[in-house]
Amino acid sequence: MAKLLSRYPAALVFGAPGAGKGTQGEILTRVPGFFHLSTGVIFRKLDPQTEEARQISEFCKRGELVPDELTVSIFRNWLEGRRAADKYKPREQLLLLDGIPRTVNQCQLIERYIDVKLVLYFECSDLEVMVDRIRRRAVLEGRPDDASESVTRKRLETFQRETTPVLEYYPPELIKKIDSSGRPAEVLAGCLAELIPVLKASFPDEG
Ligand code: ADP
Repeated sequence: MAKLLSRYPAALVFGAPGAGKGTQGEILTRVPGFFHLSTGVIFRKLDPQTEEARQISEFCKRGELVPDELTVSIFRNWLEGRRAADKYKPREQLLLLDGIPRTVNQCQLIERYIDVKLVLYFECSDLEVMVDRIRRRAVLEGRPDDASESVTRKRLETFQRETTPVLEYYPPELIKKIDSSGRPAEVLAGCLAELIPVLKASFPDEG
């Protein structure tokens, strides 16, 4: 079991597309002690000339999930690359995983490397609010999967069907609901209230 000791401590930033988790991840990654990683962002940064990137972009454009094995392998390679480059420091930084795991199978696949200490659950029950946020984001970011409303609705359906079971996978006491309807600063305060105790417990000698 020695390998388990070297698992990376992590908090999941969990929520449907458009629930506001990306905004918080971007802010938190600038706060010392956190390392934010979004599989969607990693996928969009892949070299578009490669066959792998082409395949992935087809899944994304259709609003479908990228297959689990491929997703986890890209995630691991990217993370190990950041670690080797000393950008991600597992002894001082809590990983904030945004967009992974997205299926129960992914939960199992990452468990050997990742020690989930907390799940920040960005609850947003209003489908139309999420569709509207994504529509506005499409204008700002120019993402092809954001541009079409039918793809957006498909992504939200995919989330309901394949990703919500992830919440059942983790012990209920790890799951903390975040009200994502407030101002970004208020949502940030809610996230930090949950994250700071985990940070202190994970790295007692830091800070
Ligand atoms: P959003 O959460 O708004 O859908 P992301 O940027 O997180 O956007 O992801 C964009 C797309 O990338 C997803 O719709 C999906 O096709 C793919 N994707 C991202 N993360 C995963 C994952 N963990 N497993 C499978 N597919 C993923």
